[in-house]
Amino acid sequence: QAKVEGRRKVHFFDAVLDEQVRTHHNRRTEVRDALLAGQLCLYYQPKVDMRHGRVVGMEALLRWRHPQRGILGPAEFLPAVEHTDLIADIGEWVLREALQQLTAWGGKGQLWGVSVNIAARHFQRPDFVRRLRAILDEFPAVPPRLLELEILESSALHDVNHVRSIMQECQALGIRFALDDFGTGYSSMAYLKRLPADVLKVDQSFVRNMLVDRDDLHLVSAVIGLARAFNRGVIAEGVETAEHGALLIRLGCDLAQGYGIARPMPAEDVPGWADGFVKVPAWEDASLLGPL
Ligand code: C2E
Ligand code: MG
Ligand code: MG
Ligand code: MG
Repeated sequence: QAKVEGRRKVHFFDAVLDEQVRTHHNRRTEVRDALLAGQLCLYYQPKVDMRHGRVVGMEALLRWRHPQRGILGPAEFLPAVEHTDLIADIGEWVLREALQQLTAWGGKGQLWGVSVNIAARHFQRPDFVRRLRAILDEFPAVPPRLLELEILESSALHDVNHVRSIMQECQALGIRFALDDFGTGYSSMAYLKRLPADVLKVDQSFVRNMLVDRDDLHLVSAVIGLARAFNRGVIAEGVETAEHGALLIRLGCDLAQGYGIARPMPAEDVPGWADGFVKVPAWEDASLLGPL
């Protein structure tokens, strides 16, 4: 009896698994078709220097203009492809699109840089640097120092030495690196020491809660201190309110990104937004915060 039960269960799970494999396969095909059909696009979210009221860069964020479902964010379609080679094709498309956009902005005298998120799978391909160099060559008007690559600290987990050497080869071209979602992975200080990241990006979950959760406040403060100790830049993401901004400035982090400054927007909205950007007075109003 038990044996029969067991066998039935196995069949049931097989069917479920089969279904999952099939939907995953369908999703991948859909995403590939979307790439080929030109339905992917980039939104841009500004990075600003809060103390000086300056725009310092834009992060390119992938979107899918789905003909039926509207604008989809990466969480809705990247998980199906990020462990396949398709993620590298998408990543190269993103790089070209961002560099094309930089060329257009640069032609109008706007000199901010662009950050592009690079998946671990893409980054770790043996030909990553060679292909990146070829892509950069297609856009001779863009100085490589205007390009920043954001990688997750977990991207380096498997082989720090390999990742370090790729980073160094890219940096020799002039490209900068940020460690994204910093604080959520398993980074130890020894590890940070071996990765030549130019910038640490404090994860938004800590920033969002730092005014109400002392542990998160300590984490944000520690990452800022770590960046300073290692002589790296630091930027906070998820800055949603003027209080967040004021606290970050007080903790020594002037660079920020978040809905409280601007939401990600289509490229055509960026120049107009940047023209209208002014420093928020409350960012330097310490009375907002009270005793910490
Ligand atoms: P990320 O690189 O950490 O990007 C930050 C995410 O937080 C973006 O979500 C952004 O819209 C959102 N965000 C920014 N400010 C705030 C805020 O103040 N509050 C809240 N609640 N959210 C904020 P998005 O665009 O949905 O992207 C999610 C993730 O998808 C990114 O996280 C990145 O890891 C990945 N991603 C985005 N574009 C690409 C891409 O072109 N290639 C790859 N490989 N991954 C990408
Ligand atoms: Mg990012
Ligand atoms: Mg992030
Ligand atoms: Mg993230």
